Amino acid sequence: MFDRASVVTPGGVNSPVRAFRAVGGTPRFMVSGTGPYLTDADGREYVDLVCSWGPMILGHSHPEVIAAVQEAVARGTSFGTPGEGEVALAEEIVARIEPVEQVRLVSSGTEATMSAIRLARGFTGRAKVVKFAGCYHGHVDALLAAAGSGLATFGLPDTPGVTGATAGDTVVLPYNDLDAVRAAFAAHPGEIACVITEASPGNMGVVPPADGFNAGLKELCAADGALYISDEVMTGFRTSKAGWYGVDGVRPDLMTFGKVMGGGFPAAAFGGRADVMAHLAPAGPVYQAGTLSGNPVATAAGLAQLRLLDDAAYAKIDAVSAELRTLVDDALTKEGVAHTVSSASNMFSVFFADQPVRNYEDAKQQEAFRFTAFFHAMLEQGVYLPPSAFESWFVSTAHDERAIERVAAALPAAARAASEATA
Ligand code: PLP
Repeated sequence: MFDRASVVTPGGVNSPVRAFRAVGGTPRFMVSGTGPYLTDADGREYVDLVCSWGPMILGHSHPEVIAAVQEAVARGTSFGTPGEGEVALAEEIVARIEPVEQVRLVSSGTEATMSAIRLARGFTGRAKVVKFAGCYHGHVDALLAAAGSGLATFGLPDTPGVTGATAGDTVVLPYNDLDAVRAAFAAHPGEIACVITEASPGNMGVVPPADGFNAGLKELCAADGALYISDEVMTGFRTSKAGWYGVDGVRPDLMTFGKVMGGGFPAAAFGGRADVMAHLAPAGPVYQAGTLSGNPVATAAGLAQLRLLDDAAYAKIDAVSAELRTLVDDALTKEGVAHTVSSASNMFSVFFADQPVRNYEDAKQQEAFRFTAFFHAMLEQGVYLPPSAFESWFVSTAHDERAIERVAAALPAAARAASEATA
């Protein structure tokens, strides 16, 4: 299948990290998913610790989500008009996340962050955007700049195809460094439209914000008249009922969502202060639109999933995550492998380094070659981990004792493989 795919699709995949380039080998083509398990085209079953990179928080093929989807599909798949499902999903988001007074639905997290930034620029009449190295906000041109050390480095595009002009208004700063943010505001007073940050980063591995970091961002933005945008595409509806906002309570001006809120379908959103959202077309002048925005099937899936995510569901996910973290920690310790299990609520990842990781520079210091050996040993034993040392692991309410036991059984050999690995 990979050979077939590679003929008709660049690199054989429709999103780069799926290609296993970071760990080598042939990506598995999955044909079905049930609960905590995925089955590949060769009939092998895996305990899934990726959960589609976050969305499948109830596990695969949850009967109530599937029923909601089937019911919606039977009524038609897209109308290009307003519909009740999108209103109900927006109401659910607004009810859960207090800073979100109004929300606009889109189809991907990338669209959500791209639109939020356009809105921030339109609202403030300013051009510059501050982001942090190691934070991923989708493949928005202006946000694909992550390079540059030192304070207030102007972003150099990370990829051909993004022009210097596009990335030139992006200021990239080291994560968890409020002094760098202070210096950027001092260097560009009245020019910064917004600071965008992952609410708690999961795209350089899991690197939670230091105490007071998000609150400091909010304060610095407010003092300068810039907007504070919290990207909760990954953390939203996962790290708590109200996402990371539910954990740290720092009130953003705008927020972005995706993944969990789509129930496995393409649905995402951005929202926040009503006075800011009022600038969005057709209420205001900042243009934004989408043929499939608020799609009835996607909104039905998302709504069904969110309605099942009550306190008990989060308690279960948190407990599964804690159990797995302990198992991984114990197995690696037993084999004498230098590591840090880093977590933020129920999101976690393993850094093959014994120093605490506070930012992307720290994350890059890890012995990633050990992860490669660890990953393949787990895969061979039927455990599907994210195929990169710089990604979060995700669990679901469906990860029961049997699934956890299968992970536990695979860990000793994987820890040994990590210990024996050479660069
Ligand atoms: N923002 C964050 C924090 C993400 O983790 C991602 C995707 O992983 C995105 C934005 C982009 O979302 P999408 O892949 O749906 O475009």
